[in-house]
Amino acid sequence: MRNIKFFDTTLRDGEQSAGVNLNLQEKLEIARQLERLRVDIIEAGFPASSKGDFAAVKQIAETIRTCSVTGLSRSVRSDIDAAWEALKGGAEPRLHLFIATSPIHMVHKLRMTPEQVIDAAVEAVKYAKRFFPIVQWSAEDACRSERPFLAKIVAEVIKAGASVINIPDTVGYITPKEYGEIFLYLQNNVPNIEKVSLSAHCHDDLGMAVVNSLAAIEHGATQVECTINGIGERAGNAALEEIAVALHIRKDYYQVETRLNLQEIKRTSNLVSKLTGVVVPPNKAVVGKNAFAHESGIHQDGVLKEKTTYEIISPELVGVPSNSMVLGKHSGRHALRNRVEELGYTLSEEEINQLFVRFKELADKKKDITDDDLVALIFEEKFDHFNEFYQLSSIQVQYGTNQIPTAVVVLKDGKGNEIQEAATGAGSVEALYNTLERCFQTAVTLLDYRIESVGGGRDALAQVFVKVRVNDVETSGRGTAQDVLEASAKAYIHAMNRAVMIEAMRGENEKVATT
Ligand SMILES: [Zn+2]
Repeated sequence: MRNIKFFDTTLRDGEQSAGVNLNLQEKLEIARQLERLRVDIIEAGFPASSKGDFAAVKQIAETIRTCSVTGLSRSVRSDIDAAWEALKGGAEPRLHLFIATSPIHMVHKLRMTPEQVIDAAVEAVKYAKRFFPIVQWSAEDACRSERPFLAKIVAEVIKAGASVINIPDTVGYITPKEYGEIFLYLQNNVPNIEKVSLSAHCHDDLGMAVVNSLAAIEHGATQVECTINGIGERAGNAALEEIAVALHIRKDYYQVETRLNLQEIKRTSNLVSKLTGVVVPPNKAVVGKNAFAHESGIHQDGVLKEKTTYEIISPELVGVPSNSMVLGKHSGRHALRNRVEELGYTLSEEEINQLFVRFKELADKKKDITDDDLVALIFEEKFDHFNEFYQLSSIQVQYGTNQIPTAVVVLKDGKGNEIQEAATGAGSVEALYNTLERCFQTAVTLLDYRIESVGGGRDALAQVFVKVRVNDVETSGRGTAQDVLEASAKAYIHAMNRAVMIEAMRGENEKVATT
């Protein structure tokens, strides 16, 4: 059986989703989880695009030992140099070079002739090969490129030393049949094609990213590029979990193998959704909340008698927990640590101690502490206070049906100053956010506000997600507390802290790549 490699680009293409900005700590946690999922390659970012991306790619390359870590690079020496600096500490450094090959892109974006594009591509691959053992080359907008030209440039970059050729459907335009034909065309028209492996990279603008990726596999591709939950530019990328489970469940048809550990799928999906703030729709294949729920009476009856009557995927296959363990007031540090490890999180001794304090506080107010509660606490401990500039000291909000809602907030900033402000609003949350905006002394536009409870029960934790724009930075934040107003304040401050960090880490080329 052929082996299919999974190239995960959640941290590069996925992170290009509108409003998604992950910090270093969050990217590292996702990379660790991808390693547990046993993807083959992790695309950790675009090192030349910003200081933040560079630092994250470097740290991930130095941390991850059992996957190849790669970074994106334009076909220019300065990008390749930055990528090498970031990736050289990796277990298997790999460069992902790209250049556009479609007439539209060559004329309007690159302003280069086809011959100049070939020269630039060849020169970049040769230069990259001086450093990198593995160079992957991508033809941006390959699917709208002229096939003879595509074959010609692919032959040239293989000669120059590329060992993986990626054929992205950058704009999500292709159909499965046509995509398969491009792979066949290259295999029939590029003389040295057997020296390389072929890779698919699909976008979901027409809802065909997964099926296009599968078509590529059927027509000779041995690598697929995808993201967890299908997040990414515009309508997103091909969803890793859907391709992986399709290949597994229909092994009889596809006749291929992967090295993935499918049982880590659900956990990876949850982690990415929580950290990016991108919600998984309940009806989403494989990882949606309802993916394994049988509602109709006839179906329920069938499943009770024999699971396989209506269930082709078992929840256990993708690691959906069957029983959720509950901790309580009397659970000790040891039980807590065990559970945290079982949930797949790596916490330092100090973080465990902090978490234990928070856990005890919560256990005083809430009878059962579920896995979801614990994950919410871990997030607060590990990610939400990472590198924060503003810290919440206290809030006070007054609300009455015949009163003007008023809020008072005390914050500490990164320079040790105490900031105290008060303001009113039409509602409690507005009063709170008006007050916080005064504290920040910057106009903040609230683009989205979402509140949900962590599990059921009147004593459940509240979790608030916000999306904001600060100057020209769009970012998100989350906050968890038993009180909805406190959770709201924390989410807003979290988003503001991210905005401060993004501003500080900015480079000139922020988010310029679209491959
Ligand atoms: Zn892409």
